[in-house]
Amino acid sequence: MKKEEIVMIHGTDYVQMTIKLLEAIHLDELIGDKEKRVALKPNLILDDDASNGAVTHPELVEGVLLYLKSHDFPNVKVMEGSWVGARTSRAFETSGVASICRKYQVPFYDLQKDSSYPCDGAGMTLHLCSEVKNTDFLINMPVLKGHCQTLVTCALKNAKGVIPNNEKRRFHTMGLHKPIAHLNTVIPHGLVLVDNICGDLNFEEGGNPVVMNRIFACLDPVLCDAYVCESIGYAVDDVPYIRIAEQLGIGNTNTANARIVMLNQPIGGQTNKKATERVRKLEKYTDARDACSACYGSLVYALERLDERGNTHGKQERVCIGQGWKDSAGQIGVGSCTKNCSRHLPGCPPKALDIIQFLEKNWQ
Ligand code: SF4
Repeated sequence: MKKEEIVMIHGTDYVQMTIKLLEAIHLDELIGDKEKRVALKPNLILDDDASNGAVTHPELVEGVLLYLKSHDFPNVKVMEGSWVGARTSRAFETSGVASICRKYQVPFYDLQKDSSYPCDGAGMTLHLCSEVKNTDFLINMPVLKGHCQTLVTCALKNAKGVIPNNEKRRFHTMGLHKPIAHLNTVIPHGLVLVDNICGDLNFEEGGNPVVMNRIFACLDPVLCDAYVCESIGYAVDDVPYIRIAEQLGIGNTNTANARIVMLNQPIGGQTNKKATERVRKLEKYTDARDACSACYGSLVYALERLDERGNTHGKQERVCIGQGWKDSAGQIGVGSCTKNCSRHLPGCPPKALDIIQFLEKNWQ
């Protein structure tokens, strides 16, 4: 796998999707020496079920553990420290990750109970949990979701789980962006495996899940987060820590040069069973016929951004989307399936940022 690649898989069998994705990118070769200490770092910010959009699906953890077991990696652990308002031990149990760890006899490290050590993060003194020192290869497993302060959260911000609670509080007093970027200069980057199954529309604590049913892998956490911005309707410069991380040499924000590798195509006809009132309000602007989750989720994120700016006000047309539009002609549509519409945006699926730009010009 190359640093400019983002490798993606769609579907609903999350364990098998994870294994297929890791086989495709040859994770075993990326790790190298079988004796390396490999740590999975999911996002267990609080005690909740993954279907609500806040925490990493346990199926992804299971898929990674099965893969590592089948490739004979003996030194594997799972580690995480929840946010200050939650107990990691409860989040570990509620998420289902605890039962997966017990099933495969893999140790879990509650980083809220760990000691810490100081280190220099590109000129900023930072405190990291001690278990980070005992890690050679980190599998960072964030949830792609909105965030009430930083707008998006994914690979770079998930690193905050490996610092003690008092350091997390200090990060907030420093405005989050700069310390998050500096933190990423000192953690052992290996692979980013993104849970883009149903991350939240706007908030890190979940509650408004947007179903996308996809998982993707990247080596560059900066490229990952730049891509995430565009996927949920923001420009990279809306999220300062991404640009700072690039300036610190952690990675590259140039999504135009990224190579998106799709291992399969999105599947149509899936619905968001947990759609909240907020999401349903946005759905009223759409005319969906057999839409793929990845396409429909992108449109929901785009509509939310437009709604925040007051740009949905007075719109009469409903936006066509989905495979059911392939042979029908509507007024305005997003996604390649709506090519017969009078005005349409190509892409399979298109990114939320492109949908926003298209709708701002063409939606009546
Ligand atoms: S363009 Fe059509 S096939 Fe492609 S993701 Fe959208 S709905 Fe699915």
